[in-house]
Amino acid sequence: MIPGRENRVGINVIMLGPPGAGKGTQASRFAAARGLIHISTGDILRDGIQAQLPIAMIAKAIMDRGALVDDETIIAIVRERLMRADSHRGFVLDGFPRTVAQACALDAIMDERGYGPLIVVNLVVPEPELVRRLAGRRICSKCGTNAVQATASLACGQCGGVLVQRVDDTKAVVRDRLGVYRRSTKPLVDYYRERPTFRIVNGAQSQDRVANELEILVDDVIVSATASSLETLQY
Ligand code: AMP
Repeated sequence: MIPGRENRVGINVIMLGPPGAGKGTQASRFAAARGLIHISTGDILRDGIQAQLPIAMIAKAIMDRGALVDDETIIAIVRERLMRADSHRGFVLDGFPRTVAQACALDAIMDERGYGPLIVVNLVVPEPELVRRLAGRRICSKCGTNAVQATASLACGQCGGVLVQRVDDTKAVVRDRLGVYRRSTKPLVDYYRERPTFRIVNGAQSQDRVANELEILVDDVIVSATASSLETLQY
């Protein structure tokens, strides 16, 4: 074994796509189905705000206006998470990377840890549909779960907590977040496009159909990738 490297790899997926594309829902479903770790940088920051951690409190004002937290802070958070032992069995990253600098840092971490190849999923949804979804999205104020859709019920199906709108899901902030996505995150598609493990999924379908496509394409990537690039992949 190379010192400092685990030489154990799992299925490692990153979900790209604009706010409202369904990254969180699909990442959480896929991770649960395959026994992988779901790492959402947005959730980590929101948990940190609830716990009043100083670093997250600095991020709060940035998040509330729909801007991106600085690369250095986010990379440090993800790096620490990927260094933990449970990440070795494979993970689904949701909301990271969001900039090319973050993608480069992730490649370096993957290399350093000897993790297997990244399967890159780009969830595509037309902008009017994103705006509609985000305007209707509600989350639980207690456990943070996304409500499936805005319903007459104001209670969370998981824990009974009150459903609220995220501060950054209001109309003006959504417009800004989509602008940030176009400027900073869309270039990531070019960064990853040429990789044999890059796939596009139509996110403007029912959640079940998207989940089904995701399952199939991840298996397809694993099967069709060249033996040399995936020779160490284990389930
Ligand atoms: P999300 O829940 O993924 O929509 O993230 C909510 C907010 O957290 C974003 O609008 C950003 O302010 C911040 N955030 C989450 N992930 C990142 C990231 N990878 N880079 C910079 N900011 C992030």
